[in-house]
Amino acid sequence: MDRFDVIIVGCGPTGATLAAELRLHDVRVLVLEKESEPVPFVRIVSLHVRSLELMAMRGLLDRLLERGRPRPVGGIFAGIPKPAPQGLDTAHAYLLGIPQTVIENLLEEHAIALGAEVRRGGAVVGFEQDDEGVTVELSDGEQLPSRYLVGCDGARSTVRKLLGVGFPGEPSRSDTLMGEMRVGVPQEEISATVAAVRETHQRFWLRPTSEGYYSVVVPAAGVSDRAEPPTLDDFRQQLRAVAGTDFGVHSPRWMSRFGDATRLAERYRVGRVLLAGDAAHIHPPAGGQGLNLGVQDAFNLGWKLAAQIRGWAPETLLDSYQAERHPVAAAVLDNTRAQVELSSTEPGPQAVRRLLTGLMDFDEVNRYLIEKITAIDIRYDFADAPDLVGRRLPDIDLDQGHLYGLLQRGRGLLLDRTENLTVGGWSDRVDYLADPAAVLDVPCALLRPDGYVAWIGDDQQDLDDHLSRWFGRPAG
Ligand SMILES: Cc1cc2nc3c(=O)[nH]c(=O)nc-3n(C[C@H](O)[C@H](O)[C@H](O)COP(=O)(O)OP(=O)(O)OC[C@H]3O[C@@H](n4cnc5c(N)ncnc54)[C@H](O)[C@@H]3O)c2cc1C
Repeated sequence: MDRFDVIIVGCGPTGATLAAELRLHDVRVLVLEKESEPVPFVRIVSLHVRSLELMAMRGLLDRLLERGRPRPVGGIFAGIPKPAPQGLDTAHAYLLGIPQTVIENLLEEHAIALGAEVRRGGAVVGFEQDDEGVTVELSDGEQLPSRYLVGCDGARSTVRKLLGVGFPGEPSRSDTLMGEMRVGVPQEEISATVAAVRETHQRFWLRPTSEGYYSVVVPAAGVSDRAEPPTLDDFRQQLRAVAGTDFGVHSPRWMSRFGDATRLAERYRVGRVLLAGDAAHIHPPAGGQGLNLGVQDAFNLGWKLAAQIRGWAPETLLDSYQAERHPVAAAVLDNTRAQVELSSTEPGPQAVRRLLTGLMDFDEVNRYLIEKITAIDIRYDFADAPDLVGRRLPDIDLDQGHLYGLLQRGRGLLLDRTENLTVGGWSDRVDYLADPAAVLDVPCALLRPDGYVAWIGDDQQDLDDHLSRWFGRPAG
């Protein structure tokens, strides 16, 4: 292969998802990952409703369910213990707790199975772009040409820095220690102390993981040197300060620290170079949204970049990636800022927390917050369109099975209850399904490959205009 269509920097969840999405459209993809092996950190993360739906759309959900633990959706906003509202509009009204390593491995395997090339063990250190393409430089001096480059290289993104894109926001104010280790006291003693401490300290946790190990989370306030990795003594000192005991912790498997910096890239695209995932936005882990946000960036960008490369993208399609995803990230940053405030032990924020806890007894308040964290509230702004346009469709029942089962190839779909319309010259990009009995409040809906509604109606000319808007000129 003389030149790749897209080089992706970073094989985390965002990079691996994007590689797979591009391969659905036969785009030649190379993923460059600096680590020789996937990192061994066993951090349990939450996959939320919209990500679970997207995984279902690409046939990956069953494999994730085998390896994760479904939990109720409730209690995720700032850890306020309220059950989820009844009747969330989804077939996947749960949260999947799953080790991040499992997700990463599965997504990488999926991308490779679809034909992506993943090269590990070499960091990207530079690139140059012109009107024709991008030349990427690796740490050993090797140069690789490509048509586009996407930085999915995490919070300290080299690609973002080399692009000179601003990353405004707030620096970390309070760090947290996190690790896995053994304990020297019985579980009953741990449960009682943890429950008591968590009444006032939301950033404290000690719970069993596997093989006799415990996951430990504790504020790092008293630990001075942020540049050094934390030690076991740091954990002991902080546990004593917060819980009055160090639980006899010993034999750590791994130890790390994370901050609560909140930043958003000023731009997601400069010419032929784009940013996605943590490279474009960082925020505290409150509500467990970062990985979900990055994976959803990849679903939004994948088909648009593929269309650009295949030559059928309308002129503004690629830029709609930033137009749609930047506001979504800004909203996530804001809700994590709010959650951090609500987790403070100061009397003011504690009073606001008590107030919000009461407000969440109102179904609409509870629903608003849960739909935000699970990302099923997203409505992209397609200007002057009815409310359903720009929103996702849930996995509705159809004559031929479930809707999401029809979206596995990453193509558009016209769902036609009238049986009168056609996708005509767009049939190489958009599938057609006539189903008069489909459980849909509108006559017809045009879905984009990422499952968002691009148009509703029953008029062929209007449909053709919208097919052109999203899928370019018809073939032939
Ligand atoms: C304590 C904690 C708990 C969390 N819990 C959740 C949760 O419950 N739910 C959730 O959604 N999110 C959670 N997150 C956030 C989540 O882990 C991140 O948002 C997610 O990993 C971002 O994925 P990414 O692929 O964008 O970046 P990363 O996972 O950072 O991947 C970037 C990749 O790029 C590689 N790379 C970097 N630089 C280069 C280079 N120059 N050349 C080549 N390769 C490079 C890195 O090695 C890495 O593999 C949590 C985070 C923390 C700290």
